[in-house]
Amino acid sequence: MKIESQLVHGTTKCDPLTGAISIPIYQSATFIHPGPNETTGYDYSRLLNPTREELEKSIAVLEGGLKGFAFSSGMAAISTVTELFSTGDHIIVSDDLYGGTYRLFEEIVSRHGITFTYTDTTDPDNLITALEKNTKAIFIETPSNPMMKVTDIRKIAAFAKKNNLITIADNTFMTPYYQQPLKLGADIVIHSGTKYLGGHNDTLAGLLVTNRADLAEDLTLIQKSIGAVLSPFDSWLLIRGMKTLAVRLEKQEISANKIAHWLEGHNLVEKVFYVGLKTHPGYEVNKIQSKGFGGMISFSVKSGVLAECILKNVKLISFAESLGGVETLITYPLAQTHSAIPEEIRNRLGVDERLLRLSIGIEDVDDLIEDLDKAIIEI
Ligand SMILES: *Cc1c(COP(=O)(O)O)cnc(C)c1O
Repeated sequence: MKIESQLVHGTTKCDPLTGAISIPIYQSATFIHPGPNETTGYDYSRLLNPTREELEKSIAVLEGGLKGFAFSSGMAAISTVTELFSTGDHIIVSDDLYGGTYRLFEEIVSRHGITFTYTDTTDPDNLITALEKNTKAIFIETPSNPMMKVTDIRKIAAFAKKNNLITIADNTFMTPYYQQPLKLGADIVIHSGTKYLGGHNDTLAGLLVTNRADLAEDLTLIQKSIGAVLSPFDSWLLIRGMKTLAVRLEKQEISANKIAHWLEGHNLVEKVFYVGLKTHPGYEVNKIQSKGFGGMISFSVKSGVLAECILKNVKLISFAESLGGVETLITYPLAQTHSAIPEEIRNRLGVDERLLRLSIGIEDVDDLIEDLDKAIIEI
């Protein structure tokens, strides 16, 4: 079955009990045991809930994995993954990544004696320098947030396999519709379901998928022990959002492509970072490993004052954190998503006062361009 159909139908076409085409929200914390040592298959919702189970099975199928897990946020999912590691372990991480992930690693996980090396994973040779005797995993984001750097998943995973490391890929920007890291050799895929999968800027969610039985077993234990699981209602919202993922992304990508080209031609715009532009350094690698280019664009304007002015001027576009929803959002990475990253690293990456990030929604593209045209003005 093609992924478009899988997205609409999930793993169960309907509720087997009633035929309900929309999976019911099993808003129950606990389940009656028919008798001693007997179970319906469901005992307590932290361990297993029928609504969450449908979401977890769906995301596993969509990513081509063995088992899926749903959490209360993307960060809860990433935090769960870090529990696979112990004091003394070392992890190699893409240097350009979601600011919250950096904060979790540096301010929380590092307290437990786990260390991290941040490196430019777009050049796989950097892994050789970053590798330590105690390295256990490589954590990548591709395209990365916010600089849209593209990492070759196959090359990273091959290096990881050779050195007995786990490859973890944050697939939030591409979604399984465009990119399936497990099929390229990764061991664990992460999603902030808050973004494209939910798609409507109305709920927080996190997802994990693995194709390794040993990791699935470990993650099952960690998920039920920590308990940062997704609620039945939010699981249902994700299931509903995912039904329209393909049509949303197709439209978002067409619009993003048009807007990226329009931005490139603007005299007050210095640089446009969109993986669909042939001039983007990651264009070729992305084209090989992904079916599409997505709807995320970063761009740099002439001055910090102009960047702030654009944030005030936009009307149809909303100045708000997050991405991947039906509404077009503009963010200021320096002050918002990446404020936790030290200035020195930010400057090296190019996350400065002139950088803005757009998440293209499903509005009419000409309305969006008109809004930007009125906002990006000589000051
Ligand atoms: C938003 C985001 C996260 C964190 O997810 P939450 O749902 O906000 O906790 C992680 N990775 C990426 C790439 C993100 O965009």
